Amino acid sequence: MKKNKFLVIGGGIAGVTCAEQLSSLCPTEEVALITASKLIKAVKNYQKVSRTLEQFDVEERPMIAMETDFPNVQVIHNKLTNLDTDKQVAMLADGGEIQYEMVCICTGARPRMIAANNPFVLGIRDTESVQTFQKRLHNARRIVVIGNGGIATELVWEVQGCEVLWAVKDRHISTTFVDPGAAQFFLPHLNKEKPDTSHEPIKRHKYAEQGEGDPVSADGGAALGPDWTADLQMRGITKTGHAVHVDYEVEVRSVMSPEEFRISGKPTTQPPGFSTEQGVVPNVQLFLQNNFTMSNEGGIQVNDQMETNVPGVFAAGDVCTASWDWAPHWHQMRLWSQARQMGAYAARCMAARDQGDQVHLDFCFEMFAHVTNFFNYKVILLGKFNGQGLGNDYEILLRVTKGVEYVKVVLHDNRMAGALLVGDTDLEETFENLILNQTDLSPFKDHLLDPDIDIDDFFD
Ligand code: FAD
Repeated sequence: MKKNKFLVIGGGIAGVTCAEQLSSLCPTEEVALITASKLIKAVKNYQKVSRTLEQFDVEERPMIAMETDFPNVQVIHNKLTNLDTDKQVAMLADGGEIQYEMVCICTGARPRMIAANNPFVLGIRDTESVQTFQKRLHNARRIVVIGNGGIATELVWEVQGCEVLWAVKDRHISTTFVDPGAAQFFLPHLNKEKPDTSHEPIKRHKYAEQGEGDPVSADGGAALGPDWTADLQMRGITKTGHAVHVDYEVEVRSVMSPEEFRISGKPTTQPPGFSTEQGVVPNVQLFLQNNFTMSNEGGIQVNDQMETNVPGVFAAGDVCTASWDWAPHWHQMRLWSQARQMGAYAARCMAARDQGDQVHLDFCFEMFAHVTNFFNYKVILLGKFNGQGLGNDYEILLRVTKGVEYVKVVLHDNRMAGALLVGDTDLEETFENLILNQTDLSPFKDHLLDPDIDIDDFFD
């Protein structure tokens, strides 16, 4: 059996970035990439917005394209069924085996589903699941969206021609990313007409997943990319534009078919057991027999070299839990920015290990930074933007211009710990520096958000 120096498992952002980086760092070595889906995800138009903020598009590409661009990468369309870390062999669904020296697990995560077997309940994760949703939406008059994270927020904005009941367990919308004030800022936009963007160019190429019903792809492909809603028509059967109703502080206890509902007659006595808990569950089932140390939230623990407790086995992206001592203003969130960063960094760690070396933790793990878009507003999250981990020991500075911008600064000990910027505020670079440098803001804090003061001049 041929032995590969490097093996990467998973064709999502983390796995593909890891394989690309390994290919560039070690051009004379063989890199094998196993992917359960025929389309892989590649990062395109990467742009560094500031020291820690980055933006990129995600392109779905046929796996063959990767072999053309990276000749020492072999892409294997198959499903991993077992990883024998003693013999350093990966076993595949078709009976094949691949021997490796070092492996990086990038199998991602899947949505935490309620009533998974109910035909009326759909979970959104990959291109295929979005297409199924689109088809079903076509004939829908009313849908219920359960969840209060980024996906739910984007979805209620995108869906038109259909009543949307948005069930959230919290007191305000979009809790994963924003605070009650910013949620209030967004509320008027829930039922506004969406601007028509159909004339704008599509940023990424799309390829149809070949071979529907393919047993290898059947377990789902990689999670979607940043512009997953860009060219989708999310339209229901009615003529209404946006019709969103939010139900706060509710939990789904059960999901019944119309027939079950009729027969039951007593909805309040339905057994509990479903929860609206959001988020994703790392895809680790295959590795439960491998004696990896797992975190409480179910990810494979990795150290600051992205290595698990089993030597030579690395992990990156949604499947792993960063288990080193985090920098004060960084935390893990299962986002594509972190999947890319972890995949790239894992490759550097693996290449260094091959030389008997170690690398310093990458600068991107110094501070949490993420750019996204909600309700057509640019949203930038920096550091402890929601006071994460600070208990009540923080101060908040706010500047709100209705319909234009929402600026929130979190101060801890008179130093900036985090910020949430909605709209085109142009404050991200200055605030990033203030968080990274931990400048004492006591003399300035009363003026920090004064719109008449040029904050850049202040700190020059
Ligand atoms: P994935 O992209 O899930 O890739 C995992 C790969 O492993 C897949 O190719 C899969 O086929 C493969 N695999 C799994 N098991 C096996 C096996 N046994 N054998 C072989 N291959 C296997 N993040 C943001 O930053 N901003 C957002 O706005 C945002 N919105 C999102 C919207 C949606 C609808 C979804 C679903 C996710 C969103 N995310 C968002 C999260 C983001 O997509 C993920 O954090 C990121 O894609 C994780 O990348 P990954 O490579 O770790 O995993």
